[in-house]
Order: sequence, then C-alpha cells, then structure tokens
Amino acid sequence: SKASYNFKDYIRVIPDFPQPGIRFKDITTLLKDGAAYRAVIEEMRAAVEHLKIDVIAGPEARGFVVGAPLALALGVGFAPIRKSGKLPGETITASYDLEYGKDELAMHKDAISPGQRVLIADDLLATGGTIATSMNLIRQLGGEVVGAAFLIELAYLTGREKLDGVEVFSLMTYE
Ligand code: IMP
Repeated sequence: SKASYNFKDYIRVIPDFPQPGIRFKDITTLLKDGAAYRAVIEEMRAAVEHLKIDVIAGPEARGFVVGAPLALALGVGFAPIRKSGKLPGETITASYDLEYGKDELAMHKDAISPGQRVLIADDLLATGGTIATSMNLIRQLGGEVVGAAFLIELAYLTGREKLDGVEVFSLMTYE
C-alpha cells in the first residue's frame, strides 16, 4: 500500500526572506525526510514518464536536488546548468534580467545532443526567468524541451506563460 502525502505539510514558509514581503518556500524540511523525498521524486517520475525523456537538465543548485534523483528514477542522464564561470569545459551561455542587474547561465557544449528530448527540473517555478533561460540554452544545443517539472509553482507569478509549448508539471501550487 502506498502512503498518501500532503506534500505542502513538508514545506516551511519563511516570511520576509530574502527580503521584506517575500514568503520563501523552504524545501529543506521536505528533503530531510527520506520517505517524503522519495515520494515526491516517485510522483514526478510517474507524471513525466510518458514524455520519453532522453536527458534531464537542472539549474543549480536546487535543480540538482530535484533533477538528479529524477534522472536516476527514470534511468536517464543529467546535464547541469550552472552560473557562468563554473563549468570547466567549452560552454554556451544565455543571460537574463534580474530585478537589479543581470545573471548568466551556462551549459557544456556537449551536454545535450541535437534531437534529444529534454526535461527541465527545478525546485520552484516563480517568474519563469530561470527556466526560460534554461530553455534557451537547451535549444541552442539542438535539444527539444518536451517538459518542465517542479516541486512548487507560484501560480500568481505566471511563469508558466513563458513555457509555451512545453508540458509543465508541478507537485504543489500556491495561488
Ligand atoms: P524564477 O526564475 O523567477 O522562476 O525563479 C525561480 C528560481 O528562484 C528557482 O531556481 C528557485 O530556486 C528560486 N526561488 C524563487 N522563490 C523561491 C522560494 O520561495 N523558495 C525557493 N526558491 C525560490
């Protein structure tokens, strides 16, 4: 028999972090519970299995915590998306606007082969800026972004609208 979880019970909401007015969704309270961590990954695996994914890509750092175990569960590889300057091999980059300034993400040129079906995984979908930039990188490499999977979606920030044509799965939604 399968235990039934209310996953939101495992998320800690921290008011005014990292700045006043933000209600930060802290997933560490879920991750430290081995059974709950396994259960969220299993639920994501079941939700995306039909997409016939070749490889998962995840942005640092929490995209690793979701994407790597999901890759193992599906039996596919994992490609890290990192802040510029961290990856040792030849890279491609894409930049995106932050509230103040810019940030740049990078992938290894050989992380994805043309035509591969790619799922992007991260802990949380907010404005969608991180994921739109990740999609840009994957498409530069010739990958086909077929899905995006998140533990949490902040629906009021409408990040989903940036993922047009991509199947979006989120385990928990905050309205
Ligand atoms: P976006 O680019 O606006 O969609 O922001 C998503 C990124 O910001 C993800 O990589 C998250 O890790 C991070 N993030 C934004 N808000 C939260 C939060 O409330 N909890 C945890 N991570 C967050």
